Amino acid sequence: MNVLFVASEAVPFSKTGGLADVAFALPKALRKENVDARVMISKTFDLPDYIRDKERHLSHFYVDVGWRRQYVGLSEIEYEGLPYYFIDNEYYFKRDGLYGHFDDGEKFSYFCRSVLESIRHMDFKPDIIHFNDWHTGMIPVLLNEHYRHDEDYRDIKTVYTIHNLKYQGVFGPEILNDLLNIGPDHYYSGGMEFHGGVSFMKSGINFADAITTVSETYAQEIQYPFFGERLDGLLRHRENDLYGITNGLDHDIYDPRKDPHIVKKYDSRSLKKKRENKTHLQDRMGLPVNEDIPMMAMVTRLANMKGLDLIEHVMDDMMKLDLQFVVLGTGEAHYENMMRYYQHKYPDKVRAEIQFNAALAHQIYAGADMFLMPSLFEPCGLGQQIALRYGTLPIVRETGGLKDTVTPYNAYTDEGNGFSFANYNAHEMLGAIEQATALFRDRRKWNRVVQRAMKSDTSWKNSARQYIDIYQTVMNR
Ligand code: ADP
Repeated sequence: MNVLFVASEAVPFSKTGGLADVAFALPKALRKENVDARVMISKTFDLPDYIRDKERHLSHFYVDVGWRRQYVGLSEIEYEGLPYYFIDNEYYFKRDGLYGHFDDGEKFSYFCRSVLESIRHMDFKPDIIHFNDWHTGMIPVLLNEHYRHDEDYRDIKTVYTIHNLKYQGVFGPEILNDLLNIGPDHYYSGGMEFHGGVSFMKSGINFADAITTVSETYAQEIQYPFFGERLDGLLRHRENDLYGITNGLDHDIYDPRKDPHIVKKYDSRSLKKKRENKTHLQDRMGLPVNEDIPMMAMVTRLANMKGLDLIEHVMDDMMKLDLQFVVLGTGEAHYENMMRYYQHKYPDKVRAEIQFNAALAHQIYAGADMFLMPSLFEPCGLGQQIALRYGTLPIVRETGGLKDTVTPYNAYTDEGNGFSFANYNAHEMLGAIEQATALFRDRRKWNRVVQRAMKSDTSWKNSARQYIDIYQTVMNR
């Protein structure tokens, strides 16, 4: 099975968000399952010296972008066994930043067209084009309009993954003719039209053979208006082709047994060493050093969707508990100041690290006992998965990927790998925190839950297999 994985960014070459991590990790995991998966991205970067001489020029040619004829340089490179193809055009891609330019509509129309045209110039014929987020949303439309008559393209199937439904790429209706060489039919039939404009996101959802998003619960949630970003109706219409697959975690980067950032490496059988990470962290943070005081942490963007207004609402009640609370994050000024204020008010209990610091993040995941993530919505969520792997019990709201990865502790059956609450309600959150601090007093029981948490399946393997099932389903149609 040949899969061409198309994205606007991919680790290690370019990254602004989680999409870039998936664009590296998923194809790598697919290759381990004997799928010939390759990545195609726009060349928005200069290659670092250590790898530059490995790049191989494949071809150059021109594509139509409306009335324009634009140059495409196509090259390839292998990184950690994964083949990457680069689409090169300095006019479009050699700029500061990847997104937010005045001509994003033109730039990504060009990118979609170039991806399809490149297939003629590679010795790799995809069975599946797996395209991602709005930047690539026009691929199935252009494929149907301009390429299906050609033998090489006739049987290609398309799978679309939505990582962020909020960014949709909506432009004026003139782009159909001016950039995509497409007549007005799809506009008037509603296939691409979105509130008077043309939407890349909507086109991707409408014309892909299958659609996925980054957790099962989020795949359900986006069919409701609250989460659906005005596309919930269309997503309901396509519900039979809509799947949720939780992202995995890169176990090379997040592994308490060999994490270079933490003072004591540990696994589920050496939890005493985890406690040494905790006292080290308390010391570093200037908090009372005492392994019997439960320590709760957040490592997060300080954005409203992360549930910070719930914390604001019950912080004083929360501080009546015997609890230390450490927050690492940057973001909205209101929440940065709120955390500084609470650090000032509760100097023996609260630490606010207002910075982005990957090493410190690892030390917090290793040192804390609990990890709080009370998000309003959370398509997948990485923080709680890292916490699980480090035996730091997540306390989450039951939404999106949080619901799918955290099973609440059940005192009667002794099941679960964390704590959760259902409604977006500050006192429900406080209840879950109280439940966690109470269990913490019973070290034997607590450690059993920690060990279960550390064994939770956060690998890419399982996710890769689910994608393969979807590829097979669409290929058999
Ligand atoms: P989102 O993608 O919505 O920000 P996720 O939980 O999916 O949320 O991913 C956030 C990632 O960024 C996690 O790996 C988290 O550890 C990391 N992170 C967030 N803020 C910081 C920070 N201030 N310093 C270090 N790492 C951070």
